[in-house]
Amino acid sequence: MGIDFKISIVKNLFEGTNKVLGFSDYANSVIKLESNQDKQNKLQTLVHEITHIILWNTGYDDLNANEQLIVAFGNVLYQVLKDNNLSEIVESK
Ligand SMILES: [Zn+2]
Repeated sequence: MGIDFKISIVKNLFEGTNKVLGFSDYANSVIKLESNQDKQNKLQTLVHEITHIILWNTGYDDLNANEQLIVAFGNVLYQVLKDNNLSEIVESK
């Protein structure tokens, strides 16, 4: 959608007061991933955050706030994309 996001691997990632595995900073175009998770969980979290960004950038704020929908859609999308080369994206950071 025309915006390039940076991926940042962070130790002890918090969103407000909640410890999280991933967080999307829309205003600064950064996806933050908790470092203390294995490769497959980093990738699944990355797809989860991409799902948030897609809905945010297309104006579906109500759907973007539905965490259960994001988890279900993101996890299925992760499974579909698993055979592609997403590993290099995370491993090169
Ligand atoms: Zn989420």
